[in-house]
Amino acid sequence: MVGPRAHPAPGGGPRPGCPATHGMVASSAMPIAPRPRPFPHALRSGALLAALACAGWPPAPRTVLASRAPQTGRSDLRSPPRGPRTLQAGHAPTLDLPSREPLSALAADSAVILDDLRTLSSDAMEGRRTGTRGAVRARAFLEARLRAAGVHPLGDGHERAFTWTRPPEMAPHPGVNLVGSLAGDGAAGRFIVVSAHYDHLGIRNGQIYNGADDDASGAVGLLALARALRGHPLRHTLLFVEFDAEEEGLRGSRAFVADPPVPLARIALDLNLDMVSRTAGVLWVAGAHETPALRPILEEVAALAPVALRLGHDRPEAPEGDDWTEQGDHGSFHDAGIPFVYLGVEDHPDYHRPTDDFERIDPGEYMNALRASLMMLLALDQALPLPAAAS
Ligand SMILES: [Zn+2]
Repeated sequence: MVGPRAHPAPGGGPRPGCPATHGMVASSAMPIAPRPRPFPHALRSGALLAALACAGWPPAPRTVLASRAPQTGRSDLRSPPRGPRTLQAGHAPTLDLPSREPLSALAADSAVILDDLRTLSSDAMEGRRTGTRGAVRARAFLEARLRAAGVHPLGDGHERAFTWTRPPEMAPHPGVNLVGSLAGDGAAGRFIVVSAHYDHLGIRNGQIYNGADDDASGAVGLLALARALRGHPLRHTLLFVEFDAEEEGLRGSRAFVADPPVPLARIALDLNLDMVSRTAGVLWVAGAHETPALRPILEEVAALAPVALRLGHDRPEAPEGDDWTEQGDHGSFHDAGIPFVYLGVEDHPDYHRPTDDFERIDPGEYMNALRASLMMLLALDQALPLPAAAS
């Protein structure tokens, strides 16, 4: 994530170690107008439940929609009943085939996943700042992992280079995204982007910012989802994208939507994983405010997920820092008119600090978040509407 989140640093200034790109995040002085955009093809009532039933999902026990109890310093629930709501996790999901197999594969992969997270957030990666030796190392690691997962390059390789500039200094800076695909069964004729960013803040004042949660957790989680789904084609073709230069102001995702590898009109949604490990039992889900048709899908997943999923952090009228719509790469898709679902954790004391280390991540919390992420992807793939005509 970029910029200050829900809680300003003590004294009200930018957090130590934050990049000087905060001007582009949503703020109360620069509100982003709400732009609800229904899906091009309206979700039919009950379509999701039917799809879930077809996939063997049992009728979810009707969990109580509980208003989230106000918490100190949290201000995004001041306007019930439209504010974020909590769906308590219901029961252990019992997805049937074909959805159960990817979930089982994910669970069986936990040792590799944690090892990958340890590697990507190790000192050897030197904080993965865009354009540095550490970023090159991180990219080489991730590219090999994408290849091993069967995520196919769209061209000669997974790397897609771009340049970005930061006024007033207009010298171009290089960045490199990694992009690959897992083919779907063709039923949907469209793409779902699964994204995360691999860059972080680098080395500052001799301290390495390892960014284990931000966003090695998402970058490695993306790999885990790809491995879990290998051999289980979904309705949508999946585009897996490891973005660079997110911490410089969403530069990689801006470049992606400006020069997309597939027509933007064929991208149904971006599922963005950014800071998904430090849940403390709660994973935030943003995107339903901008695309209300997503809400029933997200709530159905919340009823089954092994972590409490809370919908919110996507209201433009929220106090500064509470609306995360433009604070991650999903913001670039949003600005391009593409629905997004962002998954991520609440602010924590190690956010954008050199203490965001692997050792502070609870493996169980992380795996539960990835399981929820995979369930979200499976549900979105099932529920998103077919195009009117095959394309
Ligand atoms: Zn960040």
